[in-house]
Amino acid sequence: MASTKVQSQLKDKLKEVFGYNQFRGNQEKIITHILEGKNTFVIMPTGAGKSLCYQLPAMMKEGTAIVISPLIALMKNQVDQLQALGVHASFLNSTLSKSEANRVKEETLEGKTKLLYVAPESLTKEDNIQLLKKSKISFIAIDEAHCISEWGHDFRPEYRKIKQIIEAIGDFPIIALTATATPKVRADIQKNLKMEDANIFLSSFHRDNLYYEVHPKKDPKVQLIKFIRKHQNKSGIVYCLSRKKVEEVAEFLRINGINALPYHAGMESSVRMGNQDAFLNEDCDVVVATIAFGMGIDKPDVRFVVHYDAPKSLEGYYQETGRAGRDGLESFCMMLFSPDDISKLEKFHKDKSVTERENVHILLQEMSYYANSSVCRTRQLLHYFGEDVEHNCGHCDNCKTKHASFNAKEQILIAIQAVQETEERFGIEHICNVITGTKSDYVTSYHHDELETFGKGSDHDIQYWESIIRQSMINSFMGKDVDNVTIIKVSEKGKKFQKSPFDIDYTQDYQWPSELEALN
Ligand code: ADP
Ligand code: ZN
Repeated sequence: MASTKVQSQLKDKLKEVFGYNQFRGNQEKIITHILEGKNTFVIMPTGAGKSLCYQLPAMMKEGTAIVISPLIALMKNQVDQLQALGVHASFLNSTLSKSEANRVKEETLEGKTKLLYVAPESLTKEDNIQLLKKSKISFIAIDEAHCISEWGHDFRPEYRKIKQIIEAIGDFPIIALTATATPKVRADIQKNLKMEDANIFLSSFHRDNLYYEVHPKKDPKVQLIKFIRKHQNKSGIVYCLSRKKVEEVAEFLRINGINALPYHAGMESSVRMGNQDAFLNEDCDVVVATIAFGMGIDKPDVRFVVHYDAPKSLEGYYQETGRAGRDGLESFCMMLFSPDDISKLEKFHKDKSVTERENVHILLQEMSYYANSSVCRTRQLLHYFGEDVEHNCGHCDNCKTKHASFNAKEQILIAIQAVQETEERFGIEHICNVITGTKSDYVTSYHHDELETFGKGSDHDIQYWESIIRQSMINSFMGKDVDNVTIIKVSEKGKKFQKSPFDIDYTQDYQWPSELEALN
């Protein structure tokens, strides 16, 4: 822990430069850690104040802090803000003219620059590497660090090269920051940046003001308009998968009297930026967009986020819905779900490598399960990020609807036994095949049809057992292997349960989609 002297220096600096009186959440602990020159891993939800964690120590340390950031627009924003506060910050990227770039380089060499933002692409340029080799660097901050992982929702291959380049420049403390990271992505980031020793500062992802709901996609346009009319004149984002769909839905909303504009990467940039500004300035209520929209959008009063098409992963979904309710007020996140969307997404990747296709398949399975499940949505989402919550949120669609439940003691015991008998080397599908007595190729080739649990649950179907296993994961009786998320292992809690089982209620999942339709 920092001495009182350091603590008061930090506070003075916070007040002097940023005008804030207090640190938020883990900020002070993180900054102290960085000032001690240690590798640091910061996981904090969007809007919680990650930037300050590296900006403040950069000002206090000798030399220049390098900030690697994936988006040129964000970079400019941050640099403008810092300059307005009187901080010497600059960026190096492809938008600078030769003379501007030269000036930035000189100032960095002279040690004037406290923060230098660079895009990963610029970092790979030889003359920039030479420049950084000659400069005095205080530390390296890697923003949006989840881009390093193929298991994240925003994988960028150039992020994989970062560590190698840093090593070529010298030996510096690394600060990795991200707003989303499942345990798997976290492990990936640390491994890739060779910072397994880093202290992790993890903030809760719980957002009590977000109300989640999922509806089966039947007549999506009508469903959308009904939903938006409930939030008339409020700001909202509607995410669609394709550019074509974005245009079509925006047009449909306009015809129906809703002040909506499209946004996607295929639009001319002036029009796209104009639409973004219109949304930020309240000249338009609803933006219909592809997921290209939103990174770095700081609009506090977004009252709803609709996923018109199923998102590609739960991680992306949480990030996208997290753009609602930054001001802390009640906000609504609605997804229209159809198993067809999942098949479409799988087809998008049909030409990719086997590993990539498998990754996509697993992420989409999680997505489908989330939609189909009758377990509290908030609890499911937080569980996905490794945060186990004991209680249901009380305000998602699943919490507000009464679901049939049953005592799952015996079923949990069977599931645990099946995982153990298959030597904790398989995933959900295989375990369900064993329990239901389904002779898949894998089951027969591993002779798993000779196990005691083979067919022990044949009175129910695969979906039923998948639900038992997923709920057992949410209740921490079992969990995914960190190195290989396709594998399920029994946890300590699961082993204890096996020794002394107790009654526990699981909810019955929806009979998709008929039952859900009846509810809506
Ligand atoms: P993130 O990068 O985590 O999404 P930002 O760094 O953009 O979040 O911070 C979100 C907002 O919170 C910014 O407007 C920032 O100025 C403000 N902020 C950060 N730290 C503090 C603090 N200690 N006190 C008050 N406001 C803060
Ligand atoms: Zn809930």
